[in-house]
Amino acid sequence: MSEFDVDLFVIGAGSGGVRAARIAAGHGARVMIAEDDRIGGTCVIRGCVPKKLLVYGSRYADDFEDAGGFGWDLGEPRFDWGRLRDRVEAEVTRLSGLYRRGLELAKTDIVETRATIAGPHKVALASGQTVSAKYILVATGGRPSLEPVVPGGDMAITSDEVFHLPRLPERMVVVGGGYIALEFASVFARFGTKVAVVHRRDNVLRGFDEDLRTRLRDGLLHAGIELKLGLTIERGEKLPDGRRRAYLSDGQTIDADVVLVATGRSPNTKNLGLEEAGVALDEAGAIKVDSFSQSSVPSIYAVGDVTNRINLTPVAIREGHAVADSLFSGRVWSVDRDLIPTAVFTTPEVGTVGLSEHEARALGHPLKIFETSFRPMRATLSGREERVYMKLVVDSFSDRVLGAHMLGHDAAEIIQSLAVAVRMGATKRDFDATMALHPSAAEEFVTMRVPARD
Ligand code: FAD
Ligand code: NDP
Repeated sequence: MSEFDVDLFVIGAGSGGVRAARIAAGHGARVMIAEDDRIGGTCVIRGCVPKKLLVYGSRYADDFEDAGGFGWDLGEPRFDWGRLRDRVEAEVTRLSGLYRRGLELAKTDIVETRATIAGPHKVALASGQTVSAKYILVATGGRPSLEPVVPGGDMAITSDEVFHLPRLPERMVVVGGGYIALEFASVFARFGTKVAVVHRRDNVLRGFDEDLRTRLRDGLLHAGIELKLGLTIERGEKLPDGRRRAYLSDGQTIDADVVLVATGRSPNTKNLGLEEAGVALDEAGAIKVDSFSQSSVPSIYAVGDVTNRINLTPVAIREGHAVADSLFSGRVWSVDRDLIPTAVFTTPEVGTVGLSEHEARALGHPLKIFETSFRPMRATLSGREERVYMKLVVDSFSDRVLGAHMLGHDAAEIIQSLAVAVRMGATKRDFDATMALHPSAAEEFVTMRVPARD
C-alpha cells in the first residue's frame, strides 16, 4: 500500500492538466484532478475554440460579398449575434462534456472544486478535505490581466466576457496590439461593429516578422478597423446611456458600447499555497520550472500558462504529456521549444514558424530573403482588394530555411504543414525541388526563385 492517497494530483483541468491526468492514468497511476470552473480550461471554454468559431462566423461577411463575383445572387445578409453566441456556447458545453468523458474513461478521479497546495505532498480542497499525493502538478493556467487599470471605474471587459455579450456592440474599443486584441478586433469588425484598436506602440504584433506586421497593419486598416497607434487610454467614463467614453493620451475621445482590454495574461498562482510550500515564482508570478517542468520543490511540477513559457495550447498539452510519461512510464523526456509554429487568426490571417528576418540577422546568419506578394486567384473574380504575402528566411551559407512566414487566407493551415519541413532542416534547394501543387496559394512557397534581399 502506498503512503499517499494518490500518485498524482493535478490542479486544473485545462489543456495541460487534462493531458497529464489521462496519460498518467494510462500508465497505471492513481490520479485525481481538481477543477473549480468548467472542465476544458481556457482553450475550450474561453479561448482557442470559441474564438475560432467566431472567426469562422465573421468570415462569412467576406464570403457573402465575394459570392456575387462567382455568379451567386444572395438577399441582404443579416447577422444574428445572439444565435451565433448561443451556438458557440452549446458547442463549448459539448466539448467540455467530451473532456470530462475522457477523464472518466481514463479512470481519473474528478473533484469539481478549488484546490490549493498545503505542503509538498498535500492538497487542500475547498470542501475541507485534504489529499496526499506523491506528486502534484499545477496546471492552473492564467487569467486576463486588466493592466493598465483604466481610471473610471468598471470601464472594461476582457476576453472572458466577450463571448457572452448580450448584444452586438455598435462601437468597440480594443486596448492592446497582440493576439487577442487583433483577433477580436477582426472578428467584430466583420460582424459590423465599428472597431478602434488603441495600442501603445507604433505597430501591432511586437516580436513578429516586420514585413508581416506592416502588412497586417495595412490589412486591418483595409478592413475598416481604426488603429490608434502610439496611444493609451488615460481615463474612462461611464456615460448616462451606459456607454463608455475613453479619453486617449492625445486628447481624442471615443464613445463605445464595449471597451475590451487585451493587454496580456497573468499566471494563476495567487493564494494557491505555493510560496508557503517553498515553490519559487518569478517576477511575473509564474512558477519557475526546469526543462522537465519540475519546480523548486521536487514533488511539485507545473505546466502550461502558469509557468508563462510559451502560452499556447499545444505546448501546454505536450508539457503535461512529458511530465506524465517522465514520472510514470520510465521514459523521461522534455519538450523541445524550438520552431513552434503559431498563427494569429485575424483576417487576413498570420502564420509563422522559425526565425523572423530580424531575429536571424541578430543571430548573425548570412541571409537570403525570398518573398512574394500576390493577388490570390479567388480575389480575381470576387474583385476583393486582397493580397497574400509569403517570406522565406534562408541561411545563405547552409541553404537551410530558418523561417517561413505568411499573411493571407489559410496561413495557419499552410504554415502548420511547412513546419514539418522546417523542423526537418529543409534547405531552399528542397523547397525548389518540391513540385508545385497547382493551382494553390501554397505553391508560391516552392516557386520563389530569386532572392529579394541577399
Ligand atoms: P488552462 O487551459 O487555462 O487551464 C487551467 C484550468 O485550471 C482552468 O480550467 C481553471 O479554471 C483551473 N484552475 C485554476 N486554478 C484552480 C484551482 N485552484 N483549483 C482548481 N482548478 C483551478 N492558444 C493556442 O494555441 N491557439 C489559440 O488559437 C489560442 N487562442 C486563445 C484565445 C484566447 C481568447 C485566450 C484567452 C487564449 C488562447 N490561447 C490559444 C491560449 C491557450 O488557451 C492557453 O495557452 C492554454 O489554455 C493553456 O493551458 P493550461 O493547461 O496551461 O491552462
Ligand atoms: P499578447 O502578449 O499577445 O499581447 C498583449 C498586448 O498588450 C501587447 O500588444 C502589449 O504591448 C500590450 N500591453 C501589455 N501591457 C500593456 C499595458 N500595461 N498597457 C498597454 N498595453 C499593454 O497577449 P494577449 O493578451 O493578446 O494574449 C495572451 C497570450 O495568449 C498570447 O501571448 C498567446 O500566447 C496566447 N494566445 C494565442 C492565440 C493564438 O495562438 N492564436 C490567440 C490568443 C492568445 P507591447 O507589445 O508593447 O508589449
